[in-house]
Amino acid sequence: MAASAAQSDLAAEQWICSGVSNASRKRRGCHSCQVPGCTADLSSLRRYFRRQRICVQHAQADAVPDGRGSLARFCQQCTRLEPLEAFYGRRRSCRASLARRQQRLADGKAAAQAHGRSTAAAWLAAAE
Ligand SMILES: [Zn+2]
Ligand SMILES: [Zn+2]
Repeated sequence: MAASAAQSDLAAEQWICSGVSNASRKRRGCHSCQVPGCTADLSSLRRYFRRQRICVQHAQADAVPDGRGSLARFCQQCTRLEPLEAFYGRRRSCRASLARRQQRLADGKAAAQAHGRSTAAAWLAAAE
């Protein structure tokens, strides 16, 4: 059970590695941080960091250089580096992902309310 899960993880990882075949990726290998210039070795880190291709330090940093002269932050929702302007204050989820989350919550609430109304209506109809 555990062995097969590990195997499928490995397969997924290999697929991700072979799927991206740009030169810089090849040169730096698969288990390196996506922050330009970062040489942290991710192979000893938890699978989460390897999968997101980010080292612990950069995943937790408020701002990291994006390699194009500006600053970025690792978005926990999108699991990628996004410009600092995309965030509110020191949050680690970008505005877009927060908006998506809020929309989902609103949708869920609306659905629950609609469900509640119809249930109440059914109950009233049954009581009459
Ligand atoms: Zn890094
Ligand atoms: Zn994001």
